[in-house]
Amino acid sequence: MRVLLLGKNGQVGWELQRSLAPLGEVLALDRHSRDFCGDLSQPERLAQTVLAYRPDVIVNAGAHTAVDKAESETPLARCLNATAPAALAQAAADTGAWLVHYSTDYVFNGQGGQAWQEDDATGPLSVYGQTKLEGEQAIAQRCAKHLIFRTSWVYGARGGNFARTMLRLAGERERLTVIDDQHGAPTGADLIADVTAHAIRQVLAAPHESLAGIYHLVASGETTWHGYASHVVAQARGMKPELDLKVKEIVAVPTSAFVTPAQRPLNSRLSTRKLQQTFGLVLPPWQQGVDRLLTEIL
Ligand code: NDP
Repeated sequence: MRVLLLGKNGQVGWELQRSLAPLGEVLALDRHSRDFCGDLSQPERLAQTVLAYRPDVIVNAGAHTAVDKAESETPLARCLNATAPAALAQAAADTGAWLVHYSTDYVFNGQGGQAWQEDDATGPLSVYGQTKLEGEQAIAQRCAKHLIFRTSWVYGARGGNFARTMLRLAGERERLTVIDDQHGAPTGADLIADVTAHAIRQVLAAPHESLAGIYHLVASGETTWHGYASHVVAQARGMKPELDLKVKEIVAVPTSAFVTPAQRPLNSRLSTRKLQQTFGLVLPPWQQGVDRLLTEIL
């Protein structure tokens, strides 16, 4: 089996390099790749890559993920998040490949307190959310053999992440202010990648495109950014008392305390019942992945 992976160096892309490896031959590209084009800003050349490599499965982990920047560079965000996925979907349909793609809780308007179901009405609040929604729709229109995983609050051990930032600030300051009115589930890039690999095996074994569709993929449970930060600091103190963190108080503040170009949804809870039932998978509590991350980065 041949797998084409795009966005190989992002948080999820990096973990996919590991989790997709046992499935077969993996061609992993980023925007700088030379022999084959992996640049999402060149949708026509991406389609040529698909036609030349003829993968059985395309996994697109690349995206314009800079939520605030997207407000001022809408054409680029639309190209990466919607036009490129559309071109990939068309090429996948033309060659009979599956397309696996990632989307976001930002397609919803964040109202209410219930976990969003896959078929709930969308209502993005930001350019990022809008362009990711357009990407979902373009894929569904063009390629029946698709899996779209909507996730949220993604972290990876590699590079910057929320836990690392909180630990740095907790080492520098006695008082931190963290948002407590946005609700969601921190989700590890490793979990997303592993679930992706399991799901790919199952869709390939199932008849036709019976398992195709949109699935919510997040760790179980929920918290706020304030709960997340408090957990990180408490765990870090327990794991490594010698860290000597300065922080004495983590103050809960509303989203309105921080002015950002893009509006964030308050309710990012995603129901994962469909994914767990369809694929027979269990999603671990968010604390499990975060604690594992802490053992890696502390
Ligand atoms: P990252 O920002 O870590 O990775 C995105 C990748 O896209 C980067 O490797 C980036 O490359 C690449 N990319 C940017 N521009 C291009 C381009 N022109 N051509 C090719 N690649 C490009 O994101 P995540 O791994 O966290 O996100 C994976 C998926 O999950 C995305 O679809 C995202 O929308 C979705 N998602 C993410 C969430 C999060 O909290 N991060 C939440 C919900 C959904 P480079 O490093 O060179 O810039």
